[in-house]
Amino acid sequence: MPSVEPLVQFDNLQKIYPVSGFGRKKASLRAVDGLTLSIHEGETLGLVGESGCGKSTTGQLAARLLDPTGGIIRYRGADLAQFRGKSAKAMRRKIQYVFQDPYASLNPRHAVAELLEEPLRIHRIGDKRERKRRVDEMLERIGLEASYGKRYVHELSGGQRQRIGIARALMLKPEFLILDEPVSALDVSVQSQILNLLKELQSDFGLTYLFISHDLNVVHYMSDRIAVMYLGKVVEVAGVDDIYAKPLHPYTQALVSAIPTEHRREKRERILLKGDIPSASDVPAGCSFHTRCPLAHDRCRRAEPDLLPAGSGNRSVRCHLYA
Ligand code: ADP
Ligand code: MG
Repeated sequence: MPSVEPLVQFDNLQKIYPVSGFGRKKASLRAVDGLTLSIHEGETLGLVGESGCGKSTTGQLAARLLDPTGGIIRYRGADLAQFRGKSAKAMRRKIQYVFQDPYASLNPRHAVAELLEEPLRIHRIGDKRERKRRVDEMLERIGLEASYGKRYVHELSGGQRQRIGIARALMLKPEFLILDEPVSALDVSVQSQILNLLKELQSDFGLTYLFISHDLNVVHYMSDRIAVMYLGKVVEVAGVDDIYAKPLHPYTQALVSAIPTEHRREKRERILLKGDIPSASDVPAGCSFHTRCPLAHDRCRRAEPDLLPAGSGNRSVRCHLYA
């Protein structure tokens, strides 16, 4: 029997920041708040939701750029927090993070070749010649001539910079890439080039992606499954076709109804949500979506729903309507 264990598993993951409250009240900001989710080897899991719902925090926890305040992240079944020293360093090679803005994440004082070589040097891989060979090979693989190795970040276009950001993440031959809004800062024409490159690299190198975006068209193009986040929690997770054809959670229904174009099979009326997403430092009691939900009833104000299997196929939803 082939193993069906997920590559990555978030189990009740939590990242809570202390914030100074008014008066005597101690407040906390619940950036990620009981997030449970699995990512399978070779798939692209799209993570969507409004700005501030905790997508980047989730990605940074997975990459161990942040430490969780609660819950567990498992990688091939092993608790990531248990890795120390050498084994932690080895895990760091397998899991890489690509930032939205390569301009901010790439050191402007280093030429491209140095930026790509650096992860190899840090991990003491190869000698000078071997490292140069791998840098040139990677430049070619991402569609840039070897002469780009001598350039600096400010001499590159936005698309070229993101190619370098991706290349740098790939230098250590990772298994799992967290892509945090990787095309959100780019022009639409350039976006599709980068998305197609990511798809090619995924199949060439057998990568698994956590693809974070607020743009449902981009996520539709990239993902096998989609998880919808609201205020630090997953409210629905399902295969990409199920999510777009038949969203179950009222929040997903509103997001999908707002997509302008061809991805919706049936014409639905646009669902307008009341108000903005509440602050993560003042999360509503009961179902945290009830303050904006057009279908909220009494129970939603009192009790928090669990993320439970619903509908046909392998999907889950956190909503009293389906419990
Ligand atoms: P997203 O990527 O979905 O826009 P983030 O994960 O960046 O959301 O942020 C989730 C919430 O956590 C937001 O309310 C944000 O202001 C808050 N937050 C993020 N980082 C910190 C931090 N270092 N300290 C305090 N609050 C933070
Ligand atoms: Mg973000």
